[in-house]
Amino acid sequence: MQLDFFKTKTGLIFLLVVVYVFAAYIWWTLLLNGKTSEEYRLKIELAHNNYVQENNLPPEDLSFFKTALYHQLKKEETRQHWMIYGEASVFILLLLVGSWQIKSSFQKELELARQKNNFLLSITHELKSPLASIKLSLETLVKRLSLEEKFKRILNNSLQDVDRLNKLVGNILLAARMENNSYPFQWEELNLSELAEDAMAMVEERFEGKRNFLTEIESGVYCKTDRMALNAVLVNLLENAVKYSEEQTDIKLKLYENSRKNVNIEIIDQGFGIPVEEKKNIFQKFYRIGNEETRNTSGTGLGLYIVHSIMQQMNGNIEIMDNKGGGSIFRLTLHQSNDKQNV
Ligand code: ADP
Repeated sequence: MQLDFFKTKTGLIFLLVVVYVFAAYIWWTLLLNGKTSEEYRLKIELAHNNYVQENNLPPEDLSFFKTALYHQLKKEETRQHWMIYGEASVFILLLLVGSWQIKSSFQKELELARQKNNFLLSITHELKSPLASIKLSLETLVKRLSLEEKFKRILNNSLQDVDRLNKLVGNILLAARMENNSYPFQWEELNLSELAEDAMAMVEERFEGKRNFLTEIESGVYCKTDRMALNAVLVNLLENAVKYSEEQTDIKLKLYENSRKNVNIEIIDQGFGIPVEEKKNIFQKFYRIGNEETRNTSGTGLGLYIVHSIMQQMNGNIEIMDNKGGGSIFRLTLHQSNDKQNV
């Protein structure tokens, strides 16, 4: 499928600008030509008046129109008209060639981005099955064999590495799908309170004893949403809260219905916080803050891009607030009655 440049927002704006410039130029050309004709009509009228006066002729005498001066003025007028048409043609030609060039290179960019995305989608798909099979084999070995503690530890470490790889592959796949709008959202009325508890429990299990995990979750809060996507949002935010905070600090998940009957979920940490000037950047793809704390942690800069894309496609909202005690608060808003989710 070829992506059409003019179907993109930029393409449409570009087309409008080109059409406007084209129309404006035609209008100015016609106006200038009209003014030139008017100027020469007046010049000829003046010359005619002078001619009849100098030669003591009646005003209606037409012999002026056979003089060299009249022909000279007419010639000049024609030259002026051709000059205007010539310049207009060169400008329009340049405009068309330039627009065509811009359109072609933009189309190429779109095509390249699409190919890159398709490549990412297929390669990550291909990576998923061998990873799943390695994981299964390792789990079977750990469970079935009565191994020495040392070997068990090695196998468990490998299992953790497979999990990390799996998560990375999952994130790349999710980002690629979000980018080309191919994530298959499955909207269903879900108990968000349970979903949030589960996400927290999942992260807590992995980092048990390293952080203080707290919850303040209103029970029985429902919303139409996609289970996998919202789970990915919560897990990404909770893992970031762990990654960018010190050991034994608090990580809290709050869920409540606000006064407008929308659902708010807050992930609150007491970590390094996010500088004000970075708040608008961190949702960009592959963006990582260049400070000491980020450099000392591993990451790809994909997590918040995915979180932001999912929230956008769910018609929700995400904002970052400063935690007064230090650290950050990521607040999600989900709309309970949402047209987008009723499709
Ligand atoms: P990654 O964690 O893989 O670097 P993310 O997209 O999840 O990528 O986050 C982008 C950047 O935002 C991170 O590199 C980090 O600098 C910053 N960041 C994200 N979450 C937090 C947080 N809870 N506290 C402080 N900084 C954060």
